[in-house]
Amino acid sequence: MSLKMIVIGCGRLGANLAYRLYKQKYQVVVIDNNATAFNNLPNDFQGRTIEGDALNYGLLEQADITEAHGLAAVTNADAVNAIVSKIARDLYNVPYVVTRNYETHYRTMQETFGVQIVSSTAWGAQRIEEMMFHGEMFTISSAGNGEVEIYEVSIPAGGNGKPLSALMPNEQCAPVALTRAGRAFIPNCDTLLQTNDLVQISATFEGSKILRQRLTQMTEA
Ligand code: AMP
Repeated sequence: MSLKMIVIGCGRLGANLAYRLYKQKYQVVVIDNNATAFNNLPNDFQGRTIEGDALNYGLLEQADITEAHGLAAVTNADAVNAIVSKIARDLYNVPYVVTRNYETHYRTMQETFGVQIVSSTAWGAQRIEEMMFHGEMFTISSAGNGEVEIYEVSIPAGGNGKPLSALMPNEQCAPVALTRAGRAFIPNCDTLLQTNDLVQISATFEGSKILRQRLTQMTEA
């Protein structure tokens, strides 16, 4: 028997999430107070849909919340998301509960509920800003006390056709992922780079210095 997941809100985000969960073989229940929102689901989605306000009495139980393994509250109403998440976690002990933050100025209010929050709006804006203004290399994650960091590097025209080893000093760096035209895979040192590839590389401080130098050389080539 597969695990049950509840998605509250079937708009742009909720429909996408529900479909992903369905594809991962979870039993999915999607709730929205506007039935036309279910049109956002791809035709081959086979989870349950329930029309109704997530705060309506009895609705969460109708969605089998007592057996749910996870719940994502991803409506465009931040207060609804926070309240439903708190109910799911504290009243029904749902193991995995995630809240969407929609309007960034409501994030502080949501934080008072002590729930896990994902702010797709702020996260998206931050990523876009980094890609627009912070040059070809920036940190996306930090391990320990920053001894090792994961960098994202955008390959300039000068790197086109060169192997990843031309960029990455072996001992101080390791390849993590390469995204090309929106699709990611795990590269190795022999992978040939293409202009605009996004390469994620973990590196020590020393490694990052060499990486930056080589990237600058590629940019100026
Ligand atoms: P979007 O912003 O495209 O991700 O859409 C958000 C979805 O949340 C819409 O389909 C709304 O109808 C839905 N929604 C908003 N408030 C509620 C609520 N109280 N209960 C259920 N769904 C809701």
